[in-house]
Amino acid sequence: MLENAAHDMSYPPARGPVLLLSCMDPRLLDNTAMFMNHDNLENRYDQVIFAGASLGALGGGLPEYKHWKMTFFDHLAGAIELHRIEDVYILEHRHCGAYHKIFKVAAEFDDTPEGMAAEAELHLKYAQILTGEIEDWASARGVKLCVKSFLMDMRGTVSILQMPSGSNGSNGAPKLKKKSKKVKRT
Ligand SMILES: [Zn+2]
Repeated sequence: MLENAAHDMSYPPARGPVLLLSCMDPRLLDNTAMFMNHDNLENRYDQVIFAGASLGALGGGLPEYKHWKMTFFDHLAGAIELHRIEDVYILEHRHCGAYHKIFKVAAEFDDTPEGMAAEAELHLKYAQILTGEIEDWASARGVKLCVKSFLMDMRGTVSILQMPSGSNGSNGAPKLKKKSKKVKRT
């Protein structure tokens, strides 16, 4: 079944070593490895795991989790130092308990088209905020990193996370409000 997952093919896969940021959810561990294999990255990536993926790496915008962000960037620096990574994959997933139980940024989403769209939009929001922080961090150090964000469903199928077509954002920035009560860029 895993081999048949119809992953997104709309983006160019990373050519060199990658840092993968994923969630801790045990239901998707094998699917995560399969997805990386799909991008021909078998045994060619560092992996850092935070509950909530991008939201966790941002420390959830909560003071008590602030150190998570520091830990993420320490690992990013380590991945560059050790393996000269050039790409960062942010892998979000649907029905992420960390979003609604740990960081409480939303109630659990249902499986209606509207619920699924709202869920994808929220994951895009935090993935984009983290992408911005990674790019700022990298440019301050003269490092070039290409960041891609993805959303996995509960079947393990992965789609690239991007702005919905027809939205009016520019420069790839999400049309979502940049400032949220829970997460602020620092
Ligand atoms: Zn999760």
